[in-house]
Amino acid sequence: MFISKSFIPILKNNPSEAKIKSHQLMLRVGMIKQSSAGIYSWLPLGFKIMKKIEKIVREEQNKIGAQEILMPTIQSSEIWKESGRYDDYGEEMLRIKDRQDREMLYGPTNEELVTDIFRSSIKSYKSLPQLLYHIQWKFRDEVRPRFGIMRCREFYMKDAYSFDVNDDDAVFSYNKFFLSYLKTFKRLELTAIPMAADTGPIGGNLSHEFIILADTGESKIFTDKRIFDLNNEGSVLEKKSLEDLRKKYEQFYSVTDEKFNKEEFEKEVKEENRLITKGIEVGHIFYFGDKYSKALNASVDLPGGKKDFVKMGSYGIGVSRLVGAIIEARYDDQEEIMKWPFSIAPYEIAIIPMINKNDTTALEKASNIYEHFKANNIDTIIDDTDENISSKIKKFNLIGIPYQIIIGKNSDGDLLEFKEIGKDPKNLKIEEIVKLLIKLKEKN
Ligand code: ATP
Ligand code: MG
Repeated sequence: MFISKSFIPILKNNPSEAKIKSHQLMLRVGMIKQSSAGIYSWLPLGFKIMKKIEKIVREEQNKIGAQEILMPTIQSSEIWKESGRYDDYGEEMLRIKDRQDREMLYGPTNEELVTDIFRSSIKSYKSLPQLLYHIQWKFRDEVRPRFGIMRCREFYMKDAYSFDVNDDDAVFSYNKFFLSYLKTFKRLELTAIPMAADTGPIGGNLSHEFIILADTGESKIFTDKRIFDLNNEGSVLEKKSLEDLRKKYEQFYSVTDEKFNKEEFEKEVKEENRLITKGIEVGHIFYFGDKYSKALNASVDLPGGKKDFVKMGSYGIGVSRLVGAIIEARYDDQEEIMKWPFSIAPYEIAIIPMINKNDTTALEKASNIYEHFKANNIDTIIDDTDENISSKIKKFNLIGIPYQIIIGKNSDGDLLEFKEIGKDPKNLKIEEIVKLLIKLKEKN
């Protein structure tokens, strides 16, 4: 992409309406544009990042055997009346009427709809487990939408649902998602800690929120900080090892404020290990048994001829919120440097030539390198504007492209000035750079 032809509307200064760094940066580099309160358009840079996050989320869902579907955003009120949540959900639900005067709504979540899909087709225990997910827009009319896309009204979520024949199998499904979440956040280079959580209006008794630390987070958390040293290497999709994995995390006290108990905390966690701080919820998993299957009459035939309601769980990841959460976790606001993890960076490398009005040699050289990268499938952006070099570098530090090549008027020969964002430059040959980037692509 040539920056002169791109739609990346960068602002000179931080917009004053934004209170936290992710919101400031997203507006500043033109990733999003507010269209009305709590509702945003995603512009090319932001959209590319979100789509790459979505791809990682999807791959990790597929790895545990979840099947992707797509449910609509608009739902009928009927199924919500069946579950009893039409009244319970309250003002967060956006209710609409169609021309026949039928009560419809913009889905805030999909337990009812997916249970309806399940019950119409699956009749026997032999078809279980079923793990279904979709990645779709949700609408919640939040009381106080704020912090840009972090707490907005329309947002993009991955929500998955599990259906099992008994509690034991259902907990196995739950643990598969537990593992899949650890892996997803690790690939996004985030330390997201599973914390015992309240189940709230979804109901049920087993639940974890996945939280990353950030001062601007809205969740208060109480943890044994040794939990941050855990790493989920080597876990396989097997009942026992998944149980062990969850136990490994659960041995450390780690809860959000709804579950907090001062006495317990002080008894279980030595003073030097206590950490009370704030975080951002990026995912939430629940096991709620037959809460919805009973209300919606979703049952299967059991081996002995009896019938029982299926046992369900649900599993959300805030795909759009993650874009902001990753900025909160990684942006250096002193230096004004953002660095996207390579796997989700909007471009993998930026070519920054020093361009003088009458001398186009640097631009020609840059264009040749650009073509070479393109031929190797490397997603490249080239700054063909005539801004001065320091403001170009500043711009790319803000945008957060992980690697840069700087081409001055004196740079000739085979060696290029190559740098990882925020680090010192090195001189490398183009073949070496291509090799390095291809290796990084394969790793991700
Ligand atoms: P919160 O406590 O932040 O309101 P929640 O418990 O209501 O979240 P869930 O219903 O579990 O959220 O939704 C799954 C995920 O969707 C959350 O973990 C979060 O990442 C994301 N999410 C929820 N509400 C919003 C919102 N208003 N804006 C952006 N993302 C959201
Ligand atoms: Mg909420």
